Amino acid sequence: MSDPEFDLVILGSGPAGYVGAIRASQLGLRTCVIEKGKLGGVCLNIGCIPSKALIHQAEVFTTVPELEALGLSVDRSGFDYRKAFERSRSVADTMSKGVQFLMKKNGVTVIPGTGKLACPSEIELEDGRRVKGGSILLATGSRPKSVPGFEVDGRAVLSSDEALMLTELPGRVLILGGGAIGCEFAHIMSSFGVKVILVEMLDHLLPMEDAETTAVLERSFKKRGIEVHVRTRALSLAKGPSGATVVLEGPEGSRREETVDKVLVVVGRQPNTDGIGLDSVGIVPVKGFIPVGDWYETGAKGVYAAGDVVASPLLAHVASKEAEIAVEHIAGRDVPKRADPDTLPGAVYTEPQIASFGLSEERAKKEGIEYAKAVFPYRAVGKAVALGRSEGQVKILVSPKTREILGASIVGAEATELIHELLLAKAAELLPEDIAALVHAHPTLSEAVMEAARAAEGWAIHV
Ligand code: FAD
Repeated sequence: MSDPEFDLVILGSGPAGYVGAIRASQLGLRTCVIEKGKLGGVCLNIGCIPSKALIHQAEVFTTVPELEALGLSVDRSGFDYRKAFERSRSVADTMSKGVQFLMKKNGVTVIPGTGKLACPSEIELEDGRRVKGGSILLATGSRPKSVPGFEVDGRAVLSSDEALMLTELPGRVLILGGGAIGCEFAHIMSSFGVKVILVEMLDHLLPMEDAETTAVLERSFKKRGIEVHVRTRALSLAKGPSGATVVLEGPEGSRREETVDKVLVVVGRQPNTDGIGLDSVGIVPVKGFIPVGDWYETGAKGVYAAGDVVASPLLAHVASKEAEIAVEHIAGRDVPKRADPDTLPGAVYTEPQIASFGLSEERAKKEGIEYAKAVFPYRAVGKAVALGRSEGQVKILVSPKTREILGASIVGAEATELIHELLLAKAAELLPEDIAALVHAHPTLSEAVMEAARAAEGWAIHV
């Protein structure tokens, strides 16, 4: 057999694929990425980045009343959502081009095209060409999950892909799925004045997050006019001339109908593991996901998988970390076998934002884990009050015996930035007393983290 042209061939260029490729190249591996769409994957092109661009603009739009309170009058008649859309596309394109630049800078070969495994060391392209690698990393990501009876048609029924490409806003929208993506769309659309009905089958919004934390978001959503229906199922959908009518079933079996211009189906994501040749190397997906062992290696030696194709949280930073571990291992470095699930943050970019990691109270109760809880409210933090964003709290769960930080959950302004102080403390095995003892600049939102840590020690100052 001839020597492979590449040490590593990566299928897919999302946060797993492109980060893995750069790291591999930094470590001296001759690396190739095969990508059928745009570089950067879902995250940069039709996920994290364009949605955050829209969120930013939605938040700018909602500052209008603050301007008016200063005596300015704002003429909203010129508002054109298409401008917000266009900016979100331009941000996404900039980021994708940035990946193109990074590939070149790092000497990564990019082959456009659709590939599949032909054997454990070869990817076959549509035209029959084969690309040979010492190792293969599968990073083909995911796509929106569909719901029978609520099939996406791009007109009345949308997935997140179509919702991010809307150039006009609907008057009324029903969002099916109260996870991170559903809540973020509810935030965007309602900020721009769309009537939003948000439907979640489980007990609370963001079912994977701490219930006390999500209750703050739910209250805030309701206050701003978003209709939130939890423990509610969508039973059927009938399309009309200019929208759709959805039958909903509430907790006690009560039924109601909602007629809306658009239905947005965001009930989760489906890994892209069909048609990529898994059977040719004996990999059998479990619920669509690729099973992996240590360092994200699959059952086929030399074939690795990372990102949304693997059954771990479907998040961009998780995808990148998994690829980084796989690639460092391939390059012969001594790395941990897996990303530590207790130090993987979750982040939701609503207003208020939510961010968390590690143990939640629900899981602690379910698993019988002993914990002590400390909560500190944003309303007692000067900076939060000054910003007019005093809704929220920092919550830390601590082991009563060892004082170790078990988990944390923040709801409030800039929660997605604040979480990292606690996360670093957890990863570095610092205790709440270490955070409490650190002088935090005043006035900052970070003081809420310091005060929550003090509360865990029993001596918060401002409550
Ligand atoms: P992907 O990003 O899905 O990339 C896979 C790539 O593989 C794609 O470019 C695809 O074209 C390519 N590909 C697939 N099959 C083939 C093939 N056979 N041959 C060649 N190429 C192929 N996560 C966060 O952490 N934070 C957020 O704020 C966030 N917001 C989101 C908002 C939305 C609306 C959505 C939809 C997702 C969001 N996510 C967020 C999730 C995040 O986008 C994903 O977790 C992340 O993109 C997964 O990265 P990946 O590399 O595994 O796959």
